[in-house]
Amino acid sequence: MITLALSKGRIFQETLPLLASAGIEVLEDPEKSRKLILPTNRPDVQVVLVRASDVPTYVEYGGADVGVCGKDTLIEHQAEWGTHGLYQPLDLRIAKCRMSVAVRADFDYANAVRQGARLAVATKYTAIAREFFATKGVHVDLIKLYGSMELAPLTGLADAIVDLVSTGNTLKANHLVEVEHIMDISSRLVVNQAALKVKQASLRPIIDAFAQAVSASV
Ligand code: AMP
Repeated sequence: MITLALSKGRIFQETLPLLASAGIEVLEDPEKSRKLILPTNRPDVQVVLVRASDVPTYVEYGGADVGVCGKDTLIEHQAEWGTHGLYQPLDLRIAKCRMSVAVRADFDYANAVRQGARLAVATKYTAIAREFFATKGVHVDLIKLYGSMELAPLTGLADAIVDLVSTGNTLKANHLVEVEHIMDISSRLVVNQAALKVKQASLRPIIDAFAQAVSASV
């Protein structure tokens, strides 16, 4: 059995065409079903639905053989736990967005950075934020949040946030502006290294089909 870990939403939806290119069709809609294990048209392939930040953990420890997760999630997972036995063969170029710094439209970020002020930065992505500001030589107090980072500068909890931006609509709706582009983000295929050896015959064709579909879409 091949087990593929996916998170619901954009990653699930954008992985479906890649699965189709490997001849795999998921037989239930996760938005309608309460099942956590979804069957596919292949009796030897199943999909497990996990939280995005749990995908690397499932794949690393063999709860799943393969998974799809954002580069952001991988960097944070790696910073906290390291990566042992996690192979990252492919940038799938899906769920694209960017990691950015945003502040209230009336906050003078350039001046704060120039004057060497200590910035209070709220984020879920503490490893990425720490590395970014350390490289810039800006002193930061990091405030770890798990949701709705946009609220932090509006309530005075923080001066700035580090968050994923796709259309920019969420920032705009909350009177925030992007002041730094940290990195482009897309989702990656992650594979359990031991599974790649043991289940080579069934995993390789799936990885190769994904790779072909990605290069065809560029
Ligand atoms: P947007 O309004 O389109 O710029 O989307 C921004 C909101 O969606 C923020 O709350 C982000 O944390 C979240 N977001 C955007 N892109 C992604 C992504 N690829 N994966 C997870 N969350 C995302």
